[in-house]
Amino acid sequence: MMFKTHLAFGALAALFAIQYLNPRNQLLFFLVVVFASSLPDIDSPESKIGSKVKVIGWLFEHRGFFHSFIALGLFSLLFFLATKNELYSAAFFAGYASHIVIDAFTIEGIAPLHPVLKTRLKGFIRTGHFLEFIVFIGLVVFAVIKLVGM
Ligand SMILES: [Zn+2]
Repeated sequence: MMFKTHLAFGALAALFAIQYLNPRNQLLFFLVVVFASSLPDIDSPESKIGSKVKVIGWLFEHRGFFHSFIALGLFSLLFFLATKNELYSAAFFAGYASHIVIDAFTIEGIAPLHPVLKTRLKGFIRTGHFLEFIVFIGLVVFAVIKLVGM
């Protein structure tokens, strides 16, 4: 999925998580979720975030380890150890997970247990094509409706 689609899905995930977890600082919580929702593409030198730290894209396969549940658990744990804050670690987890989940709907898919098991979960959406645009619009509309209803 493209950067903007990840942001839209991350924003939607953040709105649901805010409603469920009721953080005191909702804006900071929202920003942590949305930031984490863009993070797994750090493994692609062509992505918005990966172009800032190309070395990771050179060392790691795109949609390999960084798009796995193992990375989700590991980086969420590291985030918790760095911040000692369960709430914002949950925000990080929700955002990072949102990225992996929605990438699983693309033709390229993800390998949830990479590097232990390279079996891929794949969908039917071609990244950057018409169907993704429809998904993006749907996510934005859903997020706006959710925001208005909060
Ligand atoms: Zn991705």
